[in-house]
Amino acid sequence: MHELEITRSLVKLALDEAEKANAKKLTSVNVVLGEMSGAVDDSVAFYFELMTKDTIGEGATINFRKVPMQAKCCNCGSIVNPKDVFWECEKCHSMDIEMISGKELYIESIEVD
Ligand SMILES: [Zn+2]
Repeated sequence: MHELEITRSLVKLALDEAEKANAKKLTSVNVVLGEMSGAVDDSVAFYFELMTKDTIGEGATINFRKVPMQAKCCNCGSIVNPKDVFWECEKCHSMDIEMISGKELYIESIEVD
C-alpha cells in the first residue's frame, strides 16, 4: 500500500467531515493504524502536512492510535499473538489462524474549530 494514496483519502474524508460540521478550521485528525496495515505513520504524517496546505486543515495535527496484530485460532478459539511467519495456536497447535486486528486504517475522530 502506498501512503500517498492512503493519506489522500484520509485528508479528503477529514476535510469533508470538517466542512459538513461548518468548521472554520480542522485542528486534528485521530487515525487508528493497525500494525499490519502496511502504512508507516511518519510517511502518512508527512503527506498529511503537504496535502492539508492551503486548506482548512493546514497546521492540523495527525495522531495515530496503533493497534497491534492479534489473531484467533479457528479451531479452539484462543487468541494467538503471532510472533513468526508461521502461525500456530499455542494451545491446540492448529495452524488455522485468522487475523482479527492489526489491519485497521481509518479516521476515528476529527477535531475542529
Ligand atoms: Zn487453537
